[in-house]
Amino acid sequence: MKNKQIEKAILNLISDPYDKDNCFYGHIIAQCEIHIDDTFDGIAGVGYWNDMFQLYINPDLFTIFTLKEQKAILIHEAMHIIFNHISRQSDKVHLQWNIATDAAINQFIDNLPEGSIYPETLGKEKDKYAEYYYEYIDINIIKRCCKSKISTNTCCSGKLQDDEIYSNIDSHTLWDKSSNDKNDNFSKQACQSMIDKAIEKSIGNIPTPVQKALKLLNKDSQVPWQKILKRIMGNSKKYFEPSYKKVNRRFPNRIDLPGKKAIFIPTLVCIVDVSGSMSNKEILKGIIEIQQICKLTNHKLVVIQVDTEVQDITTTDFKNHKFTRNGCGGTELYPAVDYINKNKIDNDILVFITDGHFGFYSWLKMPKVPMLFLITDKNCKINLPTKRSYQFVLE
Ligand SMILES: [Zn+2]
Repeated sequence: MKNKQIEKAILNLISDPYDKDNCFYGHIIAQCEIHIDDTFDGIAGVGYWNDMFQLYINPDLFTIFTLKEQKAILIHEAMHIIFNHISRQSDKVHLQWNIATDAAINQFIDNLPEGSIYPETLGKEKDKYAEYYYEYIDINIIKRCCKSKISTNTCCSGKLQDDEIYSNIDSHTLWDKSSNDKNDNFSKQACQSMIDKAIEKSIGNIPTPVQKALKLLNKDSQVPWQKILKRIMGNSKKYFEPSYKKVNRRFPNRIDLPGKKAIFIPTLVCIVDVSGSMSNKEILKGIIEIQQICKLTNHKLVVIQVDTEVQDITTTDFKNHKFTRNGCGGTELYPAVDYINKNKIDNDILVFITDGHFGFYSWLKMPKVPMLFLITDKNCKINLPTKRSYQFVLE
């Protein structure tokens, strides 16, 4: 490394006498392959290839900032690595994911340059993962985040660029270059081993945000269950709905006639375990997830409450519906499945909300449709009964 100022910032991070957490992040940065590149389009940025995390720094832009801000920018990069934001991007909309990831990590970093994005900027609460902010960013906020870049960075471009460019403290453009299925697994492993080394070097001190990141890394699946659901939904039945946004194919000049919009609607049946071992809080956690599905499908679903027998059946889109718990007995989920079979309730996907304290031995007829088990007890793991079943721990 040739640039003295950048070197100083990294060393200062590693041996920060005032903040042990900084030491940890410094050791993450030190394990990257560092490229000082004055043609790099951004202050800094990380990527993953050649089995290594790559850190790019544009010296001309980086050295404009004070030492405190430089350290904050480096921590920002370290956190993108630790939280595995590169591979978690997968098929998300980049612009939205860029803003969401920045909001997710900036809340833990002091001394960031002015104009950085925080959960407050998005009108959202703190302490959530990037996926959460991603789901809830609305278009106006995206526009605002992008515009703030334009007004502060006009000096670089000379004129206004189009609205869809977001680059705040750093550039996330290297993420696209990094991401592919093969890399994703390796980057996860590389990230884990980097964290292990940094823990060792900073004598066991693990900053709180890193503890969260570790939890995420160690989760059974990095794939959010909504993604699986979306994939299954793609294969479900299709029907057409009139839409004025689409041109009418038979009469393309008649703007007064609606066109057709294809919609995929799977029939979703949600089975809620209301046995005594499920606390109301656990049930609520699951219901919040189900509300998200309704938002996703914009369609009603069937909710069945079950303990040792079916306690309640409701068809709802949760818009004007409050969930009321019925039942508090032993844990059995099969009565709900049995009920669906006997009453021939249409179903393409079964979603179970349960603490996982049940067995499949009583399941006489195994459903053939995909089953998603959303587990509320993080210490519980179930033995999945079919190839088309999945389990996810609700955080
Ligand atoms: Zn960033």
